[in-house]
Amino acid sequence: MSMRIGYGWDSHAFKPGVPLKIGGLAIDHPEGLAGHSDGDVLLHAITDALLGAVSAGDIGTFFPPGDPRWKNADSAIFLNLALEEIQNAGYRIVNIDTTLVLAAPKIGPIAGELREHVADLLDIEPNAVGIKAKTPEGLSVDHVAQAHAVVLLEQVEDPTELKSMTAVIESQRQLEDVVKDLVSQVHGEPVRKPTFDTEDIT
Ligand code: MG
Repeated sequence: MSMRIGYGWDSHAFKPGVPLKIGGLAIDHPEGLAGHSDGDVLLHAITDALLGAVSAGDIGTFFPPGDPRWKNADSAIFLNLALEEIQNAGYRIVNIDTTLVLAAPKIGPIAGELREHVADLLDIEPNAVGIKAKTPEGLSVDHVAQAHAVVLLEQVEDPTELKSMTAVIESQRQLEDVVKDLVSQVHGEPVRKPTFDTEDIT
């Protein structure tokens, strides 16, 4: 059976006056994460890990810097597109593991809830999701949140199973029009090559 691994990393600075969202979860905290989208550092790292696992580029390939459509966007849109990409490539998630690096808030008390929420977004079991957190000792980045993510994929051998996976995503999230539009934009322009832009505005 064919298997693939993927790795993703992201960072966002904290900013007063914006809501904090990590892993799609709204977290009570005086500051949120700055970004063109909702700044969800964990979902961005997972999205890049999924895209990387099937050599589909990165988050900037699909969501170019400065595109007004993604202003304050829910990062679940980005994640859903990455899920679509791995399914189109014929794979499904075996498990993911993540590490958050941030001084505050403490992740330990909400790690269980975070794990269940991320599992729900990925349509996998909570025991297939690792959520860990560390403080940035010695890094002098106390006002920044970083996230690392690795994912393991396995090839889906039964094509009918792939169809049912896609149906679940479409029915649950109602983001299919956005995702299909993005996929066609990236794959439908023959002259366009993936832009591996290092400027991450998402
Ligand atoms: Mg980001």
